[in-house]
Amino acid sequence: MQNRREFIQQSAAAAAFVGLGGLSLQSCNRVETKRITILHTNDVHSQIDPLPVSNKRYPGLGGFARRASVIHQVRQQNPNTLLLDAGDIFQGTPYFNYYGGELEFKLMSKLEYDIATLGNHDFDNGIEGFLAQLPHATFDFVSANYDFKNTALDGLVKPYKVIVKDGIKIGVFGLGVALEGLVKKDLYKETKYLDPIEIAQQTTKTLKEQEQCDLVICLSHIGYEYKNNPEIVSDIKLAKATQDIDLIIGGHTHTLLPKPTVMQNAAGKEVLINQCGKSGVYMGQVDFYFNNDGSKTAEGRSILV
Ligand SMILES: [Zn+2]
Repeated sequence: MQNRREFIQQSAAAAAFVGLGGLSLQSCNRVETKRITILHTNDVHSQIDPLPVSNKRYPGLGGFARRASVIHQVRQQNPNTLLLDAGDIFQGTPYFNYYGGELEFKLMSKLEYDIATLGNHDFDNGIEGFLAQLPHATFDFVSANYDFKNTALDGLVKPYKVIVKDGIKIGVFGLGVALEGLVKKDLYKETKYLDPIEIAQQTTKTLKEQEQCDLVICLSHIGYEYKNNPEIVSDIKLAKATQDIDLIIGGHTHTLLPKPTVMQNAAGKEVLINQCGKSGVYMGQVDFYFNNDGSKTAEGRSILV
């Protein structure tokens, strides 16, 4: 026979287990929530080590080892985490000059990145240089507006990828900056740059209607905003001109946002834009909460690594 104290202890343990273990014993008219965490970097520029201790703003911060522990913590809090990069992985330290990007791809693979897109500097060793390092990457590259058909990257970079986490379908597509004038032609060769907004409209339609995605993310290396030259396409313009993107993860302008910018898209719905500086000193984190009544909320922040 149980004494009262034992009984209370066992009940408490059982209750704690139900709370932690999730949803199976809850009644079906309660709101249940699934959480998807997006962790992201941009413009890491071959910053393998932390910044030097002599760095005035970020002494000893950043670097792959410190990033690994942040990622580990976030994944422990939520195993349904995606790890993404918005381009310019290459160029910026001697590691790239010596090893041509091998180290960057190997370490990103170790950190279990899911998807990345290409920045202009990822062409710095040419199409061939990028291709030579690709076997070291266990993650995928996406770009919807670079047409690689007449290059050696044909078929190796997909317009988008769909990943399912906890039953939530997440579509991730990539957008790159105009290469002409920014990268030497003999490096990008026959890569064709297509209009980012037009391509985004087509791709998001595919992701919503054909692929039935619950969440659409754009990995963008087109830049956050060009205040002095508002004609140039940017993440701000992209957000306003499209209607099915939930989150734009930006790069190229090295913009450090303390938290995601919330914009109204062409359909009056909210779209988030986030970008976290450069060199991997910060990471971005955006959490999406999916309720079983069909509603969805999000919150985001930047994390000092
Ligand atoms: Zn950059």
